Amino acid sequence: MAEQSWNRVVLKLSGEAFAGSQGYGIDGTTVRMLAEEIVDVRQNLEVDIAVVVGGGNIWRGQVGAGAGMDRAQADQMGMLATVINALGLQDVLEQLGQPTRVQSAVHMAQIAEPYIRRRAIRHLEKGRVVILAGGLGSPFFTTDTPAALRAAEIEAHAVLKGTHSGIDGVYTADPKVDASATKLDQVTYMDVLNRGLNVMDPTSITFCMDNSLPIVVFDVTTPGNLRRVLDGDRGVGTLVR
Ligand code: UDP
Repeated sequence: MAEQSWNRVVLKLSGEAFAGSQGYGIDGTTVRMLAEEIVDVRQNLEVDIAVVVGGGNIWRGQVGAGAGMDRAQADQMGMLATVINALGLQDVLEQLGQPTRVQSAVHMAQIAEPYIRRRAIRHLEKGRVVILAGGLGSPFFTTDTPAALRAAEIEAHAVLKGTHSGIDGVYTADPKVDASATKLDQVTYMDVLNRGLNVMDPTSITFCMDNSLPIVVFDVTTPGNLRRVLDGDRGVGTLVR
């Protein structure tokens, strides 16, 4: 499915992937497992990896807005949540001996570099894992859109959307609700949009389509899966292109 020629990718990790089975907050064992997966492909396959982290394990702007908050303010809280996850992931990666940099779209000079495209590319060239926090820095988006946008900016070959909780790709319907749902090995961007398939938010799908960026949706919480995707294993996940 994936291609071995993908030697620079953006990995999108949703906040919930950090939470493990507890569903909220940061689970150290889970983050360590994710970090080990990243270190394996960085060090053994020499793939450049930029990780875009979500924040839904801590806060989602949509939930705050649903409870009556100002949407833009609630989204700003969500962007800060992504920074917390980024620092957690950075700590574990560095404990494993992997050099990293965190760049944030929301400026926080004491904590992270600002996102600067050329600098991000330079870090990748030097073998560092770049963790991108703060989403786009603008409300009314999710972190799917910066995953797609940053991939285009840093000339990544694909967006790898890591899912969790056992969903190993894109299904014809929600497999938790519809027992007849089947997993798709490959699907087009237009199919995803027209059929409302659960991949990434539609803004990011459109962006990937316009910029010919393939997406692989796969279960990142299964050990070895990230490497299998980058090894070109067609049995893992769903390719959207
Ligand atoms: N967010 C935002 N702008 C962005 C990215 C994220 O306002 O560019 C906010 C938004 O409130 C979102 C929250 O940050 O709900 C957490 O991001 P996301 O929902 O993408 O996290 P994930 O679902 O990946 O854990």
